Amino acid sequence: MGALWSSRPPSSILIVGSGVFGLATAYSLSKNDTFANTSITLVDRQPFPAPDSSSIDTSRIVRPDYASKPYANLAATSQNLWRTTFAPEHYHENGLVLSASASSTPYVKASLENVGSLETCRVEELNTEEDIRRVSRIEGKSGETGYVNWSSGWVDAEGAMRWLRLETEKLNRVTFVTASVSKLLIKHATNTVNGVSLQDGGKLEAELVILAAGAWTPSLLDLRGLCKSTGQILVYLPITDAEQTRLQSSPTILNMSTGMFMIPPSRNLLKIARHGHGYTNPTTIPHPESSDPDERITVSLPYTAINDPTQAVPEEGLQTCRSFLSDIHPSLSVPSRPFTKSRICWYTDTPTGDFLISYHPTYKGLFVATGGSGHAFKFLPVIGDKVLECVMGRTPEEFKGKWEWPKERVLEERWEGDGSRGGPVGMVLAEEMARRRSRM
Ligand SMILES: Cc1cc2nc3c(=O)[nH]c(=O)nc-3n(C[C@H](O)[C@H](O)[C@H](O)COP(=O)(O)OP(=O)(O)OC[C@H]3O[C@@H](n4cnc5c(N)ncnc54)[C@H](O)[C@@H]3O)c2cc1C
Repeated sequence: MGALWSSRPPSSILIVGSGVFGLATAYSLSKNDTFANTSITLVDRQPFPAPDSSSIDTSRIVRPDYASKPYANLAATSQNLWRTTFAPEHYHENGLVLSASASSTPYVKASLENVGSLETCRVEELNTEEDIRRVSRIEGKSGETGYVNWSSGWVDAEGAMRWLRLETEKLNRVTFVTASVSKLLIKHATNTVNGVSLQDGGKLEAELVILAAGAWTPSLLDLRGLCKSTGQILVYLPITDAEQTRLQSSPTILNMSTGMFMIPPSRNLLKIARHGHGYTNPTTIPHPESSDPDERITVSLPYTAINDPTQAVPEEGLQTCRSFLSDIHPSLSVPSRPFTKSRICWYTDTPTGDFLISYHPTYKGLFVATGGSGHAFKFLPVIGDKVLECVMGRTPEEFKGKWEWPKERVLEERWEGDGSRGGPVGMVLAEEMARRRSRM
């Protein structure tokens, strides 16, 4: 193993990426006495807040509604902090309706069992289309079975990230750098990483590098068979003051058969998105670990509005969002009211939907904190401390075998995920974009 931790904390730590994983780790390091003499640097390719990162958006669901018990329990712990001390002004507890068609309910059933056993959750089973309509206060329909967890909520993601950045700055321990990392500094003779080189020609050195570059991580390390970036669709519909008032206290609705969801609107903007298998964006790049510039690999990497400011969701995605809106709120889904903004936001998926929080098996001085798999935001209040536990060689018992570096790389065709995704499988972004152009 590439583990660096023996009994001594590193003299310097460099974190790459200022999203949920990177920023939360920087905050936890700043508060932890063990690292009182460690210099901490956080580098991001964008000035904070990086607008195309996964962690910056209007809203993220905060739910302990998981088919997996360890995640359900950790989410419940995290949620207690959202309610009390961790950016509570950005947290809203509207409830969450988890619905499904009658034929596809395994995730919903397992999740109901888990939240049903949590003392903090107020749960009600929904057995008909009408039950779902009544509780979620939709005009139309979204599935025939499910439940509502009145103790789930959502958070203003950008607001919470800004809050955390300020709290971290107040501790005055972190040096923030805006620069794009081009490569890890790998000494192959000793299998050691001792920093990163930057696109501007500079370098940043550290005894321990924590790679937390979200969906861009596979551009800096060969993660084939371990992590894959998938583009997910989001659209936004402006609504009137009266509609905002009517919808703002309704629960989030997440249809586990289609992956479609709607979070209650904020600031007169209604967001619809898909928790799906997403689009891949296969990209051929120099092998990130090789010193031979001719050695190349093909991996899925983010393509965002920073790459193309005119980027919009492909027609397939727009139509799916439109049809979901027509199903749940037909009165809002009229041709005279187009979505005014859309976005492709990138998940860092893993074969099982588990995070990857681990030392690298080969390179000493390299730790990876990524693999958010579309569900890490809710853990913002707790994930930094968990990363540190893993850095110190104390991976939480219930996440052993989940967060640790997998023994094998898995062919993408065999990835099963966590069973929570809906929508089409195997879409490629460029192909979907080309379909849009050919129709125009
Ligand atoms: C559409 C969508 C909906 C979601 N909904 C939910 C939800 O409802 N609930 C929930 O809990 N989670 C949700 N998630 C998941 C959650 O938002 C992510 O798991 C989490 O934000 C991932 O954080 P991260 O730190 O891994 O990545 P990011 O936030 O993307 O951070 C990575 C950072 O690395 C930087 N970086 C990249 N490359 C380089 C480089 N070469 N040099 C320097 N810096 C670099 C980037 O600029 C970025 O700031 C959702 C995600 C998406 C995309």
